[in-house]
Amino acid sequence: MEAYRSVQEAAAGAGGIPELDGELTLAPEARAAAAGDFGGLPHGHPSFVLRPGSADDVAAMLRYCRDNRIPVAPRGQGHSTFGQAQAPGGLVVDTGTLDSIHLDGDTAVVGAGARWSELVRATLAQGRTPPVLTDYLELSVGGTLSVGGLGGAAHQHGAQTDTVTELEVVTGSGRRTVCSPDREPGLFRAVLAGLGQCAVITRATLRLAPAPETVRRYRIPHSSATALTATQRRLIRSGAFSYVEGQAHPDAELPEGWRYTLEAVSPLSGAPGGEEELAGLGCRPGPDEVEDLPYLDFADRMAPDVAYLESVGAWHDPHPWWNAFLPDSTVDAAVPETMAGLRPADVGPTGMALLYPLFRDRLHTPLLRVPDEPVVFLFSLLRTATPEPGVPSSQEMVRANRALYERVRAHGGVQYPVGSIPMETRDWREHFGERWPLLAEAKREHDPASVLTPGQGIFPGSEGSAPAPE
Ligand SMILES: Cc1cc2nc3c(=O)[nH]c(=O)nc-3n(C[C@H](O)[C@H](O)[C@H](O)COP(=O)(O)OP(=O)(O)OC[C@H]3O[C@@H](n4cnc5c(N)ncnc54)[C@H](O)[C@@H]3O)c2cc1C
Repeated sequence: MEAYRSVQEAAAGAGGIPELDGELTLAPEARAAAAGDFGGLPHGHPSFVLRPGSADDVAAMLRYCRDNRIPVAPRGQGHSTFGQAQAPGGLVVDTGTLDSIHLDGDTAVVGAGARWSELVRATLAQGRTPPVLTDYLELSVGGTLSVGGLGGAAHQHGAQTDTVTELEVVTGSGRRTVCSPDREPGLFRAVLAGLGQCAVITRATLRLAPAPETVRRYRIPHSSATALTATQRRLIRSGAFSYVEGQAHPDAELPEGWRYTLEAVSPLSGAPGGEEELAGLGCRPGPDEVEDLPYLDFADRMAPDVAYLESVGAWHDPHPWWNAFLPDSTVDAAVPETMAGLRPADVGPTGMALLYPLFRDRLHTPLLRVPDEPVVFLFSLLRTATPEPGVPSSQEMVRANRALYERVRAHGGVQYPVGSIPMETRDWREHFGERWPLLAEAKREHDPASVLTPGQGIFPGSEGSAPAPE
């Protein structure tokens, strides 16, 4: 910790920095850590990193940055893939120190920097769980609430943002406040899935649900993307499965080059769930395709793979990911067309695709944009740009992402903005559509100096100029 400058030294260097409960550092290693992300692509070193001791620290520094026109990015676990949590030359607020968890029956009050893995372990001790978990649990609560937060349970419960009942936030003007559907509802709506544009979330109140002790997981091969979506539609309508997803993995032995797998889970509380529904679809899972496992092992299922990828270094390769929602009416054209044009090397040797359905009417977060059809599919290409021959470079993957984004837009698709797709303001306007005024007006009101979260590239000149009036 020798190299870390004290708050007093930082204040002497930068002038007028407020007194803080936590730590403000100019140390090169802290700035370097806040300059990268999981995508491993753009690198923008901040000038300072704040490890807040309290929400008041966030408020004091946001007022300082507002007055001095310094860009600010909140950062949870930095699992963005395209610089979204970066603030080159500015301040990164590392929310990891805001990680408190308080449980009260069916409610959790959680610091924005807590990880879902920590939250679910705490809630399980009381027989509860967040209703929707992301596939990977080492993401921060604030980070996923800023984008939406989806998983295989979202077809029943909506996005993680739909499980929030109240937020404590610090706006871009440095005002600490509490918002909810009844209290400052405009701010509440602009913050959830609001990509960090109007406020930093410091604390969230979330609904919890009863947790099963054990679940039965089915992993059933499918011959094509359209066979997979056909099964998935039936399964989500049956209501028998608490979780429905699907993946495509590269498989050189198959003519199409891709192996499709349905993944469906039902809670095990007495009678085995789901078998009848699967049999009705002609799916008779073999012994290798069914597994009973403790709920936590299922929820944290990515941990062993991540540990392996970390051990071989691949977890730290660049990840130019691509994610979009497709309407039900075009998914069976857009996905096969995309997969047919994709070589396995185009996602890298450890890459894969995700494909799963959601009910539109369970998604209530205004800024989480999805196509307007009763069923929509999340389609993701989880690319890894490894150095192997034949694997495109990360820049080539980013270019391919943009081209694919345009093709998918022509199919009525909308990006899920957690990936590596270069976007301009006009793309964002189109992305938010009728909800653009909600975001732009909240930005003007709550972040008038436009300091917040420049890495999203939504409001150009996030280094100081407020967005132009409509
Ligand atoms: C391995 C992996 C698995 C994933 N799995 C899923 C999945 O199953 N489902 C899913 O929906 N997504 C998934 N994602 C995407 C992920 O949800 C988003 O990238 C999420 O934003 C990452 O959380 P984070 O804590 O790392 O956020 P960061 O990358 O730190 O930040 C993301 C964005 O949110 C802003 N932000 C962060 N904290 C706050 C805050 N407290 N207040 C306001 N703004 C804030 C940042 O400025 C940035 O713009 C996955 C990503 C990875 C890398």
